[in-house]
Amino acid sequence: MSVSSEVVGGTAVESGVSTSAKGKLKTAAYAVASATSPVAPFSIERREPGPHDVLIDILYCGVCHSDIHQARNEWDNSTFPMVPGHEIVGKVSKVGSDVKKWKVGDTVGVGCFVDTDRTCNECKAGEEQYCDNPSLTYNSYEQDRKTPTYGGYSTRITVNENYVLRIPEGLPLEGAAPLLCAGITTYSPLIHFGVKAGDKVAVVGLGGLGHMGVKLAKALGSHVTVLSHSPSKREDALRLGADDFLATKDTSVFEKNVGRFDFILDTVSAEHDYNAYLNLLRRDGTMVLVGMPNPSPLSAGSLVPKRRRLAGSMIGSIRETQEMLDFCGKHKVVSDVEVIPIQQINEAHERTVKGDVRYRFVIDISSLK
Ligand code: NAP
Ligand code: ZN
Repeated sequence: MSVSSEVVGGTAVESGVSTSAKGKLKTAAYAVASATSPVAPFSIERREPGPHDVLIDILYCGVCHSDIHQARNEWDNSTFPMVPGHEIVGKVSKVGSDVKKWKVGDTVGVGCFVDTDRTCNECKAGEEQYCDNPSLTYNSYEQDRKTPTYGGYSTRITVNENYVLRIPEGLPLEGAAPLLCAGITTYSPLIHFGVKAGDKVAVVGLGGLGHMGVKLAKALGSHVTVLSHSPSKREDALRLGADDFLATKDTSVFEKNVGRFDFILDTVSAEHDYNAYLNLLRRDGTMVLVGMPNPSPLSAGSLVPKRRRLAGSMIGSIRETQEMLDFCGKHKVVSDVEVIPIQQINEAHERTVKGDVRYRFVIDISSLK
């Protein structure tokens, strides 16, 4: 895979069907050229599938807040040009000669990583999302450490067969796309920390991740409360399945609910006071951070007196992502989405930052063809 020479300003590049250099597939995409550039039409090359690869025609790609953090270099680790997008759903259009798991026409997904080193302790433990040398879906490199990876704001992608997920039948595909990141990122800590029916769970922040957290915690049978800085989201929270809603603009909620929750899932994308939320945990309760804002101060006094735990969690393994997808297939859980053409991607990024999305933008990739 290699990049063509430049960002093509203003006009869509050729549709993703032609083959350019030998073994390379010219592919239409949208990219950012720098941390201050808009997302704009771009052309990339995907590799022809090797023996263990599948080529996927992308149908939908969700818009994660991580796309925005990285496009704007908010984590200080961005490389450009960048084609964001790691909530990918599509159809297999070609398989490599040794591929047994997939056939042309299968409906599949790709999440936040497209390969890992397969040798580190994390990979050996089946927790490859924590691999020491991952090939993330974008803003990263293939395992050769020199070929850049490009994400799902594009018409197709070539991925090793073991990093592809099966989308259960019967789920609307645009609603299924966000499961590949928002779904697994909220499912994994709920399962890992043993959340079960009847547990009192709080979800902090009702955005892309948060609304999936509500649906999944509810499907696990827990009693779910949303804590939101947007009072206008109360009705939505209840419609999505929450049992209770606390508007945190009224700071008295932090005094009135001390010790109330067994488990708190913090999905907030902007700096906020972790200590205020930790005080809402009971003795031995756990708060898990999945949101990744800038650093915020932490007081030992929020943890020590009640033996509370603060943890982090990142996406999930391939095995667990498939388990989550199957769980969602069984419980008919998908994301609430606003489908957009790729031409509206800059507005979608702006609206996501403002919290003005109900509850995930998903790009209809046919708009790029
Ligand atoms: P999102 O859709 O923008 O949702 C973030 C939510 O945070 C907003 O809806 C809002 O909820 C709340 N929020 C925003 N600004 C706030 C503020 N100033 N004060 C308090 N609350 C605020 O984003 P997302 O896609 O769900 O992603 C959320 C975070 O998770 C991002 O930092 C993202 O990078 C990270 N992430 C992590 C992983 C992982 O593996 N750990 C995976 C994906 C994403 P309310 O209006 O309800 O308050
Ligand atoms: Zn994401």
